[in-house]
Amino acid sequence: MENRFQMFNTLTRKVETIIPNEDGKIGMYTCGPTVYHFAHVGNLRSYIMEDVLEKSLRFIGYDVKRVMNITDVGHLSDDADSGEDKMLKGAKRENKTVMEIAKFYTDAFFKDCEALNIKRPDVVEPATNCIPEFIHMVEELLKKDYAYVAGGNVYFDTSKLDDYLVFSSAVEKEALKEGVRDDVDVDENKKNKSDFVLWFTKSKFEDQALKWDSPWGVGYPGWHIECSCISIKHLGERMDIHCGGIDNMFPHHTNEIAQSEAYLGHKWCNYWLHVHHLVEKGGKMSKSKGNFLTLSVLQEQGYEPVVYRLFCLQSHYRKPLEFSYDVLDNMKNAYEKLIKKIAEIPEEGTVDEAAYADYRKKFEDCLCNDVNTSTAITVIYDLLKSDVNGATKRKIIGDCDYVLSLDLLKNAEELKNGASASVDAELLKFIEEKIAERKEAKKAKDFAKADAIREELLQKGIAIKDTREGTVWEQV
Ligand SMILES: [Zn+2]
Repeated sequence: MENRFQMFNTLTRKVETIIPNEDGKIGMYTCGPTVYHFAHVGNLRSYIMEDVLEKSLRFIGYDVKRVMNITDVGHLSDDADSGEDKMLKGAKRENKTVMEIAKFYTDAFFKDCEALNIKRPDVVEPATNCIPEFIHMVEELLKKDYAYVAGGNVYFDTSKLDDYLVFSSAVEKEALKEGVRDDVDVDENKKNKSDFVLWFTKSKFEDQALKWDSPWGVGYPGWHIECSCISIKHLGERMDIHCGGIDNMFPHHTNEIAQSEAYLGHKWCNYWLHVHHLVEKGGKMSKSKGNFLTLSVLQEQGYEPVVYRLFCLQSHYRKPLEFSYDVLDNMKNAYEKLIKKIAEIPEEGTVDEAAYADYRKKFEDCLCNDVNTSTAITVIYDLLKSDVNGATKRKIIGDCDYVLSLDLLKNAEELKNGASASVDAELLKFIEEKIAERKEAKKAKDFAKADAIREELLQKGIAIKDTREGTVWEQV
């Protein structure tokens, strides 16, 4: 097929046309969450944008296979080889086992994804499923002399590569230039400062819960090895697109490339996409800063997950996005207005194929222009303003919403069908019964009971009003 999808490749620092290894097919890998806590909305921004990337590629006709890992072992709190083990930290915090923590937060992550209309990747593989593959890769790296054993651990020797800092990013240079932080123990076993652990046997954590037998003794894998192994296992030796949040670029992605290419003996992944941070006025938002914002916190404050998704789509993934409740409120209004406009599209006509093709192309062009989601949304606004007939408008919006995943037609339909559509059948039955019961109570002049029923309904978020036509209700 014709390749016209362009995106910024962090590896070459250029916008490039994606040329897949196999015509019409894309192998795509996403670094998954470390399941020791709820996902921060900043991390969810990455997953939303990666979901849009996958759907954009599918929309323009590629057969995409997407793989994601779940980190349930080996990720230390500073992303390099020092700090605390994140899973262990989670387990201690909640007095549970590491596997209980992993299960709970994996489920919570996918619940967030579902709420945000993020498609589940074709393959999801927890790191702890692949220990034999990790051991095999470490053995091969040792055989090829890219790794060494010191002090009980196995390290990757970065001095064996001519271009270890493959992204040539400021972050990479900065990280290696700056002195080792005071709070980080210097690992005396490393030959070079940038070397990293492939396999820990001399555990820093006496109570490390997950350990496996290995040729180097009982231990556990380093964090980076899992993404190399899991992606090669499911996508083969040559991958098209690897994506992740920008904070994964160094050391995680740099190290993934180092060990994968040393192991394979050839180029591994051609295109890298990195989603930038969610920031607030004071700087980066993160879990560690105490302002731990999750999707459920936003939901509790009355923001539908699709509103957060729209907020993310309105900005470009390659720019930091500043979070503020004011902007989120604007998004909420914009979303409601958009749904109202779509609900008002008249039921008329048959699909005008020429207009349909024209708008679809405009939409695709925005996606092919480095996943420009905000201009893609503008196409919908332009369409709504146009004199294209109702049937065509609805078909185009339905198609575009495959990528945007903002529930546009669904919510417009619900709005049209009135409030009753947004409560489930059981609640509807309950409301009707209570209104009938209240009517009887009033007839019997039992006003205390009538008031109690009104209060009971209000507790369930239903306000009732007596009108000349009878009692009506609405959700509050
Ligand atoms: Zn990864």
